[in-house]
Amino acid sequence: EKYSFLKSLSSDTPDNHADREALRFSKNFKKMKEDLTKKLFKIYNDTVFDNQLPEDLQILWNKRLLKTAGYCVYRKNVKVHDSKTVRIELSTKVCDSAERVRDTLIHELCHAAVWLLHGKNDGHGPYWRIWAKKANLTHPEIPVIARCHSYSISTKYTYQCSKCGYSIGRHSKSLDTSRKVCGFCHGEFVLLNNQKMSRGSASTPATPRTPNKFAMYVKENYSTVKEKEKDLKHGDIMKLLGKQFAEKNKISS
Ligand SMILES: [Zn+2]
Ligand SMILES: [Zn+2]
Repeated sequence: EKYSFLKSLSSDTPDNHADREALRFSKNFKKMKEDLTKKLFKIYNDTVFDNQLPEDLQILWNKRLLKTAGYCVYRKNVKVHDSKTVRIELSTKVCDSAERVRDTLIHELCHAAVWLLHGKNDGHGPYWRIWAKKANLTHPEIPVIARCHSYSISTKYTYQCSKCGYSIGRHSKSLDTSRKVCGFCHGEFVLLNNQKMSRGSASTPATPRTPNKFAMYVKENYSTVKEKEKDLKHGDIMKLLGKQFAEKNKISS
């Protein structure tokens, strides 16, 4: 039995089940990723967005993008009746497989659709979620579209804040930990050894993913809280965010 094109892009697809074209894209990923991106865009535009997205929607590869798998740049041209355009950028370093491009692109296209078709930027709000749901109903063979891209980036070095767990990836030992402190909580950064981490040695934090999710949460919500609670000191804001985060995860999990 042959898998569909989209399903065949998953890295665990056995060769004898894979769609031949998909297999070609997966095996020659580096050489063919631009073509794969175009093909995926066509499929998604046709099956999920009823071809309402412009055929020439700009999708670029960004070599310097390390913190996320992809993002949208929203533009509004006031001279032309507030006409809206969007550009998607995919991280060369994070989207390093056919599967990741497949899953990241649809996430970003849902953002693009909200901007172009509804004229809004609602983050991962109701509009985005409706499109994400539609995509998942149409293509049950791809993973549920998550609000964050939770891929680990294959950088050689990771610096992690000893207080809040926020981490930064670097390709060299370039962070001066005596000078650079955490932007969220002013904690000290410590260098983790990624190679040891992947082998699961003693230096592996017990829950390596939770701190990063919390850091993302802080990043997204810090300014809103600060805006509302003008008298709160930094430490109190962090406490409040910690509480909110714990509360939120109780509900959603
Ligand atoms: Zn998003
Ligand atoms: Zn911190």
